Amino acid sequence: MARTLVAGNWKMNGTSASLPEIEAIAAGVTPEKEGVEALICVPATLLTRAAAAAKGTALMIGAETCHARGSGAHTGDISAPMIADTGASHVIVGHSERRADHGESSEIVAAQAAAALEAGLTPIICIGETAAERDSGKAIEVVTTMLSASLPAGADPSLLVIAYEPVWAIGTGNVATVEAVDEMHTALRARLTDTYGAAAAGIPILYGGSMNPGNAAGLLAVRDVNGGLIGGASLKAADFLAIYAAA
Ligand code: PEP
Repeated sequence: MARTLVAGNWKMNGTSASLPEIEAIAAGVTPEKEGVEALICVPATLLTRAAAAAKGTALMIGAETCHARGSGAHTGDISAPMIADTGASHVIVGHSERRADHGESSEIVAAQAAAALEAGLTPIICIGETAAERDSGKAIEVVTTMLSASLPAGADPSLLVIAYEPVWAIGTGNVATVEAVDEMHTALRARLTDTYGAAAAGIPILYGGSMNPGNAAGLLAVRDVNGGLIGGASLKAADFLAIYAAA
């Protein structure tokens, strides 16, 4: 059975003035809440200070992307070893905003995930369909194909996290229905089982897309939903902790 992960994604939000939110989240995350992990992924500029603020608590800190190479002539990019050096434990790869804004293909995402693993980080591999792909009835086919293409070759499945994030649900307030989430997560678990066998049961599959304190309990109750990836509602400690409590 997969553990549950409640993960925030601050995107391009946050300065030093936001660190009290990290401190408040860290204070509200309880190590004794068995089987439920909490993580906040912050911009690179905040990684070191967020990791310091969360040190000694059950809150984990992650980054929002990494380069596929460990070092080199890639101006402005940040490598997985650099992220690990800040004290972070996770990194999001393949978020739809990265795929759209930076042309990151599933092949690149698989290489980024491999780099994360090599550096000792847990990659959160994001996949999801556009509104047009869902409307054409091809969502399951598109997303399972994207999953297979985004998995790093030869990875230990116990070190992976997957996040299903329908593009049309991110930051829009349009949440996928419980039925659609159930159908997709069942298909993703089946694809992971085809790839990794019985070990696939232990891979957390998160749902992301306008999750908030009001809808979290219903989404998190779906079989094969093992947590959430939360954008807007992770920026305020009270909202994030309410979702964490629902898990
Ligand atoms: C996200 O950025 O991964 C996300 C799910 O955002 P939101 O919760 O704001 O839709």
